[in-house]
Parts: sequence; structure tokens; C-alpha cells
Amino acid sequence: MFGYDSFRGDQAAIVEHVSDGGDAVVLMPTGGGKSLCYQIPSLVREGTGVVISPLIALMHDQVEAMRAVGVRAAFLNSTQDARERGEVERAYLAGELDLLYVAPERLSAESTKRFLEQGRIALFAIDEAHCVAQWGHDFRPDYLALAELAERWPTVPRIALTATATEATHREITERLSLGHARHFVASFDRPNIQYRIDGKNEVRRQLLSFIRDEHSGEAGIVYGLSRNTVEKTAEFLSQNGIDAMPYHAGLDAGLRARTQSRFLREDGVVIVATIAFGMGIDKPDVRFVAHIDLPKSVEGYYQETGRAGRDGLASTAWMAYGLQDVVQQRRMIDESPGDLAHRRRLSAHLDAMLALCETVSCRRVNLLGYFGQASEACGNCDTCLRPPESWDGTVPAQKLLSTVVRLERERRQRFGAGHLVDILRGKRTERVAQWGHDELSTWGIGGELSEQQWRGVVRQLLAQGLLAVNDDGYGTLVITPESAAVLSGAKQVHLRREPERAARSRGSGGS
Ligand code: ADP
Ligand code: ZN
Repeated sequence: MFGYDSFRGDQAAIVEHVSDGGDAVVLMPTGGGKSLCYQIPSLVREGTGVVISPLIALMHDQVEAMRAVGVRAAFLNSTQDARERGEVERAYLAGELDLLYVAPERLSAESTKRFLEQGRIALFAIDEAHCVAQWGHDFRPDYLALAELAERWPTVPRIALTATATEATHREITERLSLGHARHFVASFDRPNIQYRIDGKNEVRRQLLSFIRDEHSGEAGIVYGLSRNTVEKTAEFLSQNGIDAMPYHAGLDAGLRARTQSRFLREDGVVIVATIAFGMGIDKPDVRFVAHIDLPKSVEGYYQETGRAGRDGLASTAWMAYGLQDVVQQRRMIDESPGDLAHRRRLSAHLDAMLALCETVSCRRVNLLGYFGQASEACGNCDTCLRPPESWDGTVPAQKLLSTVVRLERERRQRFGAGHLVDILRGKRTERVAQWGHDELSTWGIGGELSEQQWRGVVRQLLAQGLLAVNDDGYGTLVITPESAAVLSGAKQVHLRREPERAARSRGSGGS
């Protein structure tokens, strides 16, 4: 029916187990082939497989794809009118459906549950099951109501699926959905055909353009940025430079978004520049690269996004550019985010894990898989494996920088960011320096041994290591942390990653 020659990985075992009426928890990376794990048991078992999915925008496409191969599929969500809903309900009750996709907020309504009880259910498939985890990166309150499925339909098998597999999330899924007795299938999360690379951010649009021109000219790719503004400006820049690029974010008209998505799926070599609104559930096998021009908020999100590259198993690239400003901006966003302290702590922990990945001097893949609880060996196919970064003893520069921060902290009335700090260290006579008499500080001009760019690298790495912090005053003021004291006293050494010195690119020179 599906046209494949064989099962992949654990698919056969999962299909057999669920078809036999067993419960299952399935952790498989994006592109691993989760859908088949509930689609086939839904066909094999008597009744309708009920699929709970938060991706309402994609239900239509998913159902169309199922119908195209001869599966009798339908969906129930808030986009339908009463007549359409009536027809789907009739088909379900008549036993004419193999698969029924239901939005979680529908299923939490008592009326929907009573309706489902009148028909025959083959199984429940809980897709994107990490949405039930409050400590995860994508919690959706509607998912909590799914806990009731086990009590209400004790004999109907349930299969929970996700591409997010940290141990904490796994545990929460298991507990909240009462799947302690289920069989757990944990696939390897490695995607060996994807090359992971993280570069320092310099002139990010130019860097992106060179990356695409040099390595993926004429190929399909997705570029992720944090804001709508960045997304639009970047798409425009790429277009002006001959790349077939289009913006995609939640603020654009729905019709336009649908056309953009359909061009990406059906035509060759289209590049989408998007906020995270793009890509969930989109199944395009030959996406050759995923680029991040802003730091993602969590490793889970990053891994899911990069996982959209190379589903066909061919060589692909996950490229990111990241700089000091990313760290400052995200720390600030966390400080200003609504929600309680626990929420902010969680965001902070997610960011710290992301920074650790960016700053690692060992294999990126080992770090990524380690985050998901899977041990591995240096991969030979990431930037740090291919060009191992040197580390250097940055204790003295760190002390110079931190003591300047301490001196500036005494001047409470004024806010000074990283740029000013570096100017002081390098002894640059700017207007601000003159205005505040900072050429009289004892640390004035003591940092001539490093370039401005190197100093910014030091600031960024100290932030990433928790030896510097961004004050929550909204100005990006840098402050010391409790850990900084040990560095200042000489009790703690600081190891930094040596970064390649980048010459500023001459404008207008294309990819080289
Ligand atoms: P996931 O939901 O885990 O991200 P999908 O179920 O969308 O992954 O499957 C990813 C891709 O792999 C799809 O293009 C799908 O058609 C394909 N696929 C799934 N199972 C197999 C298989 N056994 N053989 C070949 N291709 C498969
Ligand atoms: Zn590696």
C-alpha cells in the first residue's frame, strides 16, 4: 500500500506490537518514519485509528496523502463547518474510516469523547507526545486531558510518538499518559548524513549567501530566523542576490503561506526563510540544508529543525551562525518573559544547553546525542571533527575583562554594554569614554593583545560559561556572577576556544 520495500529500524517490531493490542512509546528522530508505526496497525486492527495531532494546519495534507494511497482517512478540527463535520462523523460511526485525525482541544471536549464511544476505535496514536511534558520546549495544556484515555478506553491500545527524547521528557510522557507498562522503542537519534557546523556571526547575511552559493547552489533549504523582520529582510537580500528565496512567518496572509509552502514542496531549489512557524510535519525528502541565522532557544528545537534536512539519507548540512548579540538578546528575553520563576529557570536551562553545544571544543554530534542520553564517538562529519578548534588559556584576558566590569558596576547610574567594555580594554578614545572619564580606569588600554573581534569572542564565551551575566535592566549591561570571583582571585582557570580571525569581507564580492 505505501510502496516501500521494507521496514526501517524498529518499525516492524512496533507495528507488530501495536497491531497485537500492546501500548507503545516511540522515540524516533524527525524523518525516522513514525507515521507508519500507527498507520499500519490502524489498517490491520478492526475499527478506526484515532490520531491526536496538534498540527491542525497539516491535517488536510496528511489526510490527502493517506487517501492518495487508498487509506480511508478524515479529520476533525476547528477549521471545518457543521456540514463537513457531520459527514466525517457519519463515516466514523458507519465504520468507514481507517484513520481519524483529531485536534487535542476537540478530544478534551466531553461531547467528542461521547461521540467516539459510539464507534469502534482501533487504537489511539498520540503524535508529538512531548507536548504533554511541562518541562519540555513545546508544552500544550490540551495534551494533559489525554491522560484520561487510559481510564476511559482501557482495552484500546495507545501509541505515543515523539522526536524529542531527553530523558526528562521521556519520563514525563510515560507518567502523564500512564504508559509505564508500555513497550518503549528508543531509536538512535543520530542522523549521520547531516553535517553540523556552527560559525561565529560576523556579517550574517553575507555569510549565509556564501554558504548557499558555495555549497548548495540551486538546492532546496530552510533558513530559520527569530523575528519576522529578520525573516523578511533576509529573504529579500537572498532574492536580490539571485537565490530563489521566499519569506514565511505567521504574520503573512494564509493564502500566501499556502502558496509558498506548495512551491517549496513541488519545485526544485526553493529556499524558505522562516520563523519556527515553518516546517512542522512538512515531509520533503530532499531539503539539502537547514541554516540558523539566530541562536535557537533549545537543543530540542534545534535538533528538530535541523532534522528536516536530508530525510532522503543523502549528504546535507546544518549550518548556524551565532554571536555575542544572540546571547545578550536571549538572556534579556528570558528575563522579560512572563511566567513564574520556574518557567524562567527552564528557559535558562534550555539556553545553557544550546550555548554548551555552540562552544564545545569536541564533536558536535557527541554533544547533541549526549543531550538525548545517547553515547557516541566523534563523528568525523562536523566542524569540530573536521577542523578541531584549539583551546587557549584565557585566564588573564578574563581577569582584565571581569575587573573592568567590576569597576563599571560601581557607576550604577549608567549602563554600559559589551562594545564599550571592549573599547576601554583596547584603549579606544570614543565620545562615551571621554564623557565618563573611562580613560582613567586602571584597566584602560590593558587589552591591546586581542583584537576587537577576539574580545567580543571572550565576552561571549564568558557569558556562555556563566562567568558573566546580562543584567535584567533591559540595556544588556554586563555584570559578574558568583562564579566570577574565583577567576578574579586566580583560583579558577578559564579555557577558551580559539576562533579563526575573519577578515571583513569586501562588499559586493560574491561567494568565494
Ligand atoms: P517522522 O514522522 O518520524 O518525522 P515520517 O513518518 O514522516 O517521519 O517519515 C519520514 C519519511 O520516510 C517519509 O517520506 C516516509 O514516506 C518515509 N518512510 C517511512 N517509512 C519508510 C520505509 N519503511 N521505507 C522507506 N521510506 C519510508
Ligand atoms: Zn563530529
